[in-house]
Amino acid sequence: MEVFKFGGASVKDASAVRNVGSILSRYEGQKLIVVVSAMGKTTNKLEDIVAAKIAQDSILYTQLIKELSDFHLDILDGLFEDKQLVIFSEIRTIIEQLHEWYTHVVQGNYSCEYDQVVSLGEVVSSKIVAAHLMQEGLSSGWVDARELIKTDNQFQEAKVDWSQTEQLIQSKVFPLFSNVNSIVTQGFIGHASEGIITTLGREGSDYSAAIFAYCLDAKKVTIWKDVPGMLNADPKYFENTVKLDQISFKEAIELSYYGASVIHPKTIKPLQNKGIPLFVKSFIHPEAAGTIIQESIDKDDLIPSFIVKKDQVLFSIRPIDFSFIAEDNLSDIFSRLAQYQAKINLMQNSALSFSLLMDRKKADPDKIKSILGDSYKVWYNEELELVTIRHYDQETIDLVTKGKTSILEQKTRQTIRIVLK
Ligand code: ASP
Ligand code: MG
Repeated sequence: MEVFKFGGASVKDASAVRNVGSILSRYEGQKLIVVVSAMGKTTNKLEDIVAAKIAQDSILYTQLIKELSDFHLDILDGLFEDKQLVIFSEIRTIIEQLHEWYTHVVQGNYSCEYDQVVSLGEVVSSKIVAAHLMQEGLSSGWVDARELIKTDNQFQEAKVDWSQTEQLIQSKVFPLFSNVNSIVTQGFIGHASEGIITTLGREGSDYSAAIFAYCLDAKKVTIWKDVPGMLNADPKYFENTVKLDQISFKEAIELSYYGASVIHPKTIKPLQNKGIPLFVKSFIHPEAAGTIIQESIDKDDLIPSFIVKKDQVLFSIRPIDFSFIAEDNLSDIFSRLAQYQAKINLMQNSALSFSLLMDRKKADPDKIKSILGDSYKVWYNEELELVTIRHYDQETIDLVTKGKTSILEQKTRQTIRIVLK
């Protein structure tokens, strides 16, 4: 049994979905779990829909739903000749429910509401993919991941309850395999107690693939992407990127921790725990080898990797009472930031001040000031970038710092991190 994961770009239109079908037909006869993401940019659209509801902007809400509906109906039209197929009414029903959701008063917070709505992208996508595979005559079925992945109720960033999830997945999925070969399901979504829907965090479908693989003792996981594999840098920022043919779990964790966006950071650990190798392959060239991520560390330091995070803000924080930055201050700062769910990319302290680097998108300076302002003086520097180089040398450092000013550097033997202006 293997797990495949297809992200939003691999199901972004009718021909992309057909391509998924043709990749799967290369594996006919094998037992596969096929985890799919929402189609194209659907998750962003659904986020806008939630925002329009919160703002009670009914015109915008209706317009966004129409766009979402047109987008999916267009894909359906492109895939299915027979307009009477139940998939058409299934998708229409979901869209109608979404429409009615506008007047629904939700008990719970924003994040809870977000999860109920945004999770539908994966549901719709997986239903369309499953219907397509059926039409192509592949032996396939569909299963609802909302029933299988059990989480806590930390909406938008739910934590998996592994033992319950394992039980649910094993008891529901294994029997299905006696009837079909491939089972289509959704990434990113699960449920908390009383069946309320949760999501695992943006880009969480990779993680879902790992959860299924772990619980079913899969032989391997393949993430199908629009790139040839894991590259040593983002082609948006670097020329001459190189594909990493083989890296270790440890290296993949390091790279994703620093922000390499190819794989969701939580994906690796469950696979590593069970020694399940992870392949990253191109859905455009499915015959090509891609990248293998597994236990051996043999080839890790052959190629330097570059990870760039743009739009960073460096905060400097100093206790108003001029006390030194020590454990008590730090724990106070962290607990305040943790309540704000702040994510810190880098930190450094001196005697009198503490510096933290965060994504501008997740750390509004005014907000940070208001969280800390009663006890600390906060100032900040915006429009910075953080470059991390794994397996660096002087040449690679010169390459990234050229024409820029370095305002903070942290170095270990394997990794250098440079904040640049
Ligand atoms: N559809 C979700 C997102 O765009 C999950 C995923 O694609 O992995 O974040
Ligand atoms: Mg995605």
